[in-house]
Amino acid sequence: MRVDLRNVIVNPSVRLPFRIELETEGLDFPSVKGYRKPPEADVEVFSEAGILRLQGTITADLLCVCDRCGQEFESVKVTKVDAVIAEEESEDNPELFVLEGTEIDLQELLSTCLILDMETKFLCREDCKGLCARCGRNLNLGPCGCGKEIDPRFAVLKQLLEK
Ligand SMILES: [Zn+2]
Ligand SMILES: [Zn+2]
Repeated sequence: MRVDLRNVIVNPSVRLPFRIELETEGLDFPSVKGYRKPPEADVEVFSEAGILRLQGTITADLLCVCDRCGQEFESVKVTKVDAVIAEEESEDNPELFVLEGTEIDLQELLSTCLILDMETKFLCREDCKGLCARCGRNLNLGPCGCGKEIDPRFAVLKQLLEK
């Protein structure tokens, strides 16, 4: 989605709000099974000391798969966006986002922000206990019948004593 920022470029006191739904095509992550609805961006473009900035949030309603136990879970991810939009590319100051004429592709800019902010690890909860290495039971649902693992330090001690 291309938007024209001419208004704010010509008149620095203008603030341009945008509310758009992002297309999720290309927004694929290994642990994200899907989007429960299109991510919503609520942002504003304004000029600050001669520099164009875009600030706001992207809210994504995700259906994720836990990296530890494999269960699906829902998660609402809020990405804070604070981007500088350069008027032209320059080699000594490479900017991520550059105007094309007076336009910018908001979908592309916001997708990039979301990708850069995406977690590298997805857990259904911070203290997810994962699966038992022996029987595969989801240990969040309670202990399995495999018995307590022997502390590796005790295992070494036991070997020594047995010698
Ligand atoms: Zn989990
Ligand atoms: Zn087990």
